Amino acid sequence: MEKYRALGIKLTPQRLAILNYLKENKSHPAAEDIYKIVSKKFPTMSFATVYNTIEALKIKGCVKELKIDPAKKRYDLDTSPHHHFICTNCNEIIDIFKDFNLELAYQMPKGFELKGSHVEFYGLCSNCID
Ligand code: ZN
Ligand code: MN
Repeated sequence: MEKYRALGIKLTPQRLAILNYLKENKSHPAAEDIYKIVSKKFPTMSFATVYNTIEALKIKGCVKELKIDPAKKRYDLDTSPHHHFICTNCNEIIDIFKDFNLELAYQMPKGFELKGSHVEFYGLCSNCID
């Protein structure tokens, strides 16, 4: 929690609840999913508060936004480099921790510097394979 204070993020009970939800749910929730759960504990909290809190965390680099789900923005508290697999039936997103050694050394435009890569895999999760 020191990390957030150092970044100048005031940790209100609502924000703590949002962070804890993200920490405990590795399912890459959307803002709607987070709101559904956290608003049970804080009934007066609006969806806008949840959304703005996540966006503020994103700007500070504490949360990563995933664009892999075409229906809605999904969030990842794990900002370390990793890849994702999305189920095209139920939109479950799982982490893929594997180094694919993607080399761009010979195609990099002059003056560009490679910082990383993100591979998106599509398919069906175990629940959706009949
Ligand atoms: Zn599925
Ligand atoms: Mn992830």
